[in-house]
Amino acid sequence: MPRHLPVLPNQPASSLNKDGTRNFVHPADVSGRFTNVRWVVFAVLMVIYLVLPLIQIGGRPAVFLDVEHRRFFLFGGSFNAQDFWLVFFLLTGIAFVLIVVTTLWGRVWCGYACPQTVFLEGVYRRIERFVEGPRNERMKRNAGPWNASKTGRKIAKHALFVLFSLFFSHFFLSYFVSLPSLLDMMQRPPSEHPQAFAWMAVMSVILYGNFAWFREQLCLIICPYGRLQSTLTDRDTLVIGYDVGRGEPRGKKKPLSARDPEQARRLVSSPSGEGTDGDVPEVGDCVDCGRCVHVCPTGIDIRNGLQLECIGCAACVDACDDVMTKLKRPTGLIRYDSQRRFDDPSIPKKIFRPRLLIYVAVFVAWVVGMVFALRSHEPFAANLLRPPGGTPYVVEDDLVRNTVQVHLVNKTDHDVTYHLEPVEDPAVPFEYVLPMPEVELAGGADRHVPVIVRLPEDAMRRGLMVRLRVRAEDGDTPRELTATFLGPLR
Ligand code: SF4
Ligand code: SF4
Repeated sequence: MPRHLPVLPNQPASSLNKDGTRNFVHPADVSGRFTNVRWVVFAVLMVIYLVLPLIQIGGRPAVFLDVEHRRFFLFGGSFNAQDFWLVFFLLTGIAFVLIVVTTLWGRVWCGYACPQTVFLEGVYRRIERFVEGPRNERMKRNAGPWNASKTGRKIAKHALFVLFSLFFSHFFLSYFVSLPSLLDMMQRPPSEHPQAFAWMAVMSVILYGNFAWFREQLCLIICPYGRLQSTLTDRDTLVIGYDVGRGEPRGKKKPLSARDPEQARRLVSSPSGEGTDGDVPEVGDCVDCGRCVHVCPTGIDIRNGLQLECIGCAACVDACDDVMTKLKRPTGLIRYDSQRRFDDPSIPKKIFRPRLLIYVAVFVAWVVGMVFALRSHEPFAANLLRPPGGTPYVVEDDLVRNTVQVHLVNKTDHDVTYHLEPVEDPAVPFEYVLPMPEVELAGGADRHVPVIVRLPEDAMRRGLMVRLRVRAEDGDTPRELTATFLGPLR
């Protein structure tokens, strides 16, 4: 028996009918060990998503992206717009982890942890199942005429969808405005906070449209991650696949493997029957019951081979294991395995391979870089600048004058007073004029503070440096700022 089924030509995408219309997928209920694991993961992730804005660390939400004031708070750390490179660093790191995970375990992210899957399977499909019943009932009712029962159930389902979408969009908004502000806004009319209200409304419509109607289309059409699978995985990546050698030819008859699995395995690895007693199995283990197709949330038949639409949810594994168990045959006809082992189950699993070692090396470099980046993160920034458009220097009454600005940024979330003072050098007769030697800045605020420096013209020479020290009252390490003093050179 060949271990690959022939490629099926001109097959439409699983969610399309041949005439191009949408083939709305109605996955059947499934239970099993992977489904149980998914439920636990869904529950944990949902709690995390919903609880993060509620947890207070240092008087701020654990995750608070304060867009209005261009600052963000992550697990007790406060960052502002100048720290955006850190976010970029963090996001690239997360993307990289995803690449490594995909190389090892295929689309485990899509099937177990992607918010699209978590909320679709964990909430919206549960509601649908609760209101409209199991797959067959839903499909039968959909195909039937509109009556009181159908209309009532549809209205109830969509009302619940809208309600949950509103609930989730409010939580989503709380990541950006903080929960106390959100609760405050909810008690006031939308006209007092039109922008936040508009965001909430748009988000609710998107969530409702996505989870009520668009569903798996997001994974198939929009999500770029699924498109990258062929570049991220290799033949040793753990994927969900169908054991063609064991399952084919599919049919209802009692397979040889049920009588003698070992003999069936020998026959499979020697399709001609060479080396055996010539007994070729009439049918394989697949009884063609269609359960693996019915439970698939993207509507594909995994028996046709690894497909772009497969999100690695393992529902078909649980469904087929259940069928095999009932038939008293070995489970694992559909299972997690590498493509190489689907072709030849006798070869050992291979985890370490060159691409993975390279990924791990790059990941370690990223972790080291991230640690250095976080350690270099400072609670205030101070830079010495020249005012834009100003003259470099002015000569007046035999004095050379430079005007500079100290740009101060308070990156913390509380008020801090900063002290500015010149760093005197007895060898250089600079005269410093500081109109604002003390500057109080609110958390996240910044300010340009002018400083005038004068020098007798006859003391002017090349390489003179203006030196200022900035001290934060909350005890952070003082900074010394320098800039070249400009003037006419003799
Ligand atoms: S669930 Fe298993 S036995 Fe049933 S059609 Fe799918 S592969 Fe064949
Ligand atoms: S083929 Fe199996 S693993 Fe892939 S999406 Fe369908 S049910 Fe999930």
